[in-house]
Amino acid sequence: MPELPVSALGLGMMRLPTRDSDPAHIDEAATERLFLAAIEQGVTYVDTAYPYHNGASEIVTGKLINKHGLRDKVQLATKCPVWLVREETDWEKLLSEQLAKLDTDHIDFYLLHALNAERWDTIQRLRGLEYLERAKAQGKIRHIGFSFHDSRDVFTRIIDGYNNWEFCQVQYNYLDTDFQAGLQGIRYAAERHIGVIVMEPLRGGALAKVPEAVERLFAATGQIRRPAEWALRFALDRPEVVTVLSGMGSAEQVIENTAVAGYAAAHNLSSQELAAYSGAAAYFHEKMPVPCTSCGYCMPCPNGVAIPDVFAIYNSAVAFDEREGNSKWYQKGYVSSGKGADSCIACGECMPKCPQHIDIINSLAEAHRALTH
Ligand code: SF4
Ligand code: SF4
Repeated sequence: MPELPVSALGLGMMRLPTRDSDPAHIDEAATERLFLAAIEQGVTYVDTAYPYHNGASEIVTGKLINKHGLRDKVQLATKCPVWLVREETDWEKLLSEQLAKLDTDHIDFYLLHALNAERWDTIQRLRGLEYLERAKAQGKIRHIGFSFHDSRDVFTRIIDGYNNWEFCQVQYNYLDTDFQAGLQGIRYAAERHIGVIVMEPLRGGALAKVPEAVERLFAATGQIRRPAEWALRFALDRPEVVTVLSGMGSAEQVIENTAVAGYAAAHNLSSQELAAYSGAAAYFHEKMPVPCTSCGYCMPCPNGVAIPDVFAIYNSAVAFDEREGNSKWYQKGYVSSGKGADSCIACGECMPKCPQHIDIINSLAEAHRALTH
């Protein structure tokens, strides 16, 4: 039987509607509406992960697929939480747990989640890929890939470190062409026949609402489109990209975005449109207080500070005027685990390694102040 094609737009199950402020309390009725709207519009790729909605996303995703008899009509993707793996037997324990939560006997696309240098070391030390190959031979997973959040050098190392990657998932949007894997990373993977899945085409929703100055840049092309459409078209324009994931929160958004994916295709953008994207990116970059490119050359910090991540969060908070969400993310994801700027002891080891000559010590202190007050 030929494999089910992957739709140009994938449904991300990470920003589902909730009944209250607890992310685990997914509004299942509203989620069902948006899920069915996506299927009706031809979406075949459904992407969840172990930690999404504090573990509830996999359960709801599995429930919806089975309730509507769609297991053979979707490519189901989920991700292994590599950070929970302490010993070799954990790979199997986690996959079994995920199969049970998803209520299925196989996962079509299984990703090692959010790889960085440290997690890549864990995978090698605890023979994660050997286990995934066994799981694939047993039919529990169909394709092996990874999602990524680190510097381009680490991306290259991971791509080169395993001959059987089938796909990878990277952040890409008109602001982040040179961030993490970036466009160079996308090309590097595609040249090696590794499928590329794009995440964060709207940068966590930030590009769905842009300031007037950016709207004017877009309007000057003569094309009147919603900011979200501009952002989606940018990712869909890349020929290397197999599918673009969007974490849509309502059936209306699903209908709007799948319509865009229906008529946008690779190499569709004019030079005038591409220039408008560059202008928009320059506008946001200018507003960012720290000129960090996330190259990762300053890493690792001997004291555990996630330097590029802290700067990326601070930059987003200022450029998009989105302090509250970014502060919460910073405190929950970084300060509480000792990776925040407050762990910096000003040893200075990172400073000479930065090609942008950023005053890392002072910029970290500034970022911490801004994200904690
Ligand atoms: S100066 Fe701070 S951030 Fe830089 S290496 Fe030392 S502890 Fe880490
Ligand atoms: S602080 Fe400098 S070296 Fe570190 S990631 Fe940013 S640009 Fe690269």
